[in-house]
Amino acid sequence: MATIELDGPGKRIGQLRLPRVTDTSGWSNLTLPLGVVANGEGPTALVVGGVHGDEPEGQVAALNLLRALRPEDVTGRVVVAPCLSIEASRNYTRLWPTGANLNRSFPGSPHGTLDEQLADFVTRELIAPADVVVDIHSGGRSGLCLPWSEMHCVADAEQRRQMVDGMLAWGTDWCVVYIDIAGEGLLVGEAERQGKVVVSTELGGGGHVTAAIHRLARSGLENVLRTFGVLAGEPQPRAREARILMATELDDYVLAPESGLFETLVDLGDDVAAGDPVGRMHFLERPDREPVTVVADTSGTVCVVRAIATTQQGDNVCVIGREVSREQLA
Ligand SMILES: [Zn+2]
Repeated sequence: MATIELDGPGKRIGQLRLPRVTDTSGWSNLTLPLGVVANGEGPTALVVGGVHGDEPEGQVAALNLLRALRPEDVTGRVVVAPCLSIEASRNYTRLWPTGANLNRSFPGSPHGTLDEQLADFVTRELIAPADVVVDIHSGGRSGLCLPWSEMHCVADAEQRRQMVDGMLAWGTDWCVVYIDIAGEGLLVGEAERQGKVVVSTELGGGGHVTAAIHRLARSGLENVLRTFGVLAGEPQPRAREARILMATELDDYVLAPESGLFETLVDLGDDVAAGDPVGRMHFLERPDREPVTVVADTSGTVCVVRAIATTQQGDNVCVIGREVSREQLA
């Protein structure tokens, strides 16, 4: 399914192809960009962007990295899949046109739907041979995140220690330890299950990417690859100590109590206490009705604010995390 050989030295840029049928083509391939740069003995890093189509930060950073990388810059191998959800990227949507969320499709199946077939290929052919897996996300259109690098609190102490190193190597001012409140089947979850060192991010979002975020995506990605010895050059030391937030309680993820127009009362980085108002739901069909106040259920720092005002009951409107030290994670 890859048009290029992923083993062996040198630089190759090609495609990943999955057979499919569409209404306008009886014989078609879903075609995704894929590249590899390899040189000598060393670790393999897999760099993935565009698992969600409305998150261009990682797609741009991965494309820039792949074009720029020369074999002599690499010790080991860097495999780059700049955009796994290419039709969603074309539409600037989180989900595939089929409604699939690729980040719920792992580990996938060779006989499943197209997203499951892609997840299966990524699981077996891209994640399995990798030592380090970098999966670049942002809040997409619906969420605005403090730009941060992130990790799950995996059980294995050595894997966790290396993931903390990778998280801090991105150089973001904030880091977040998170849980999955919207189901299983994540790419990073599969990589963690395979024992890989997984580094991920939520670099802003809200449907807009600033130049500073593009720079942070590129510099962080390169610094992670240097930290694990795949990319030549000394890792850059952090400009300042990271603030690490734990958003590991279900109640840290505040959900809209009913549908309406969301007014946020907090901004990223604000500190809140349990019971504090974080937003209000307004009702365009009932202008006489008082807005419903949405309150924080936990205390801490606001790290996500909903970016789309139109809100359905149960949509996440705010995430709160509590600061921890690096030592508390190790
Ligand atoms: Zn994402």
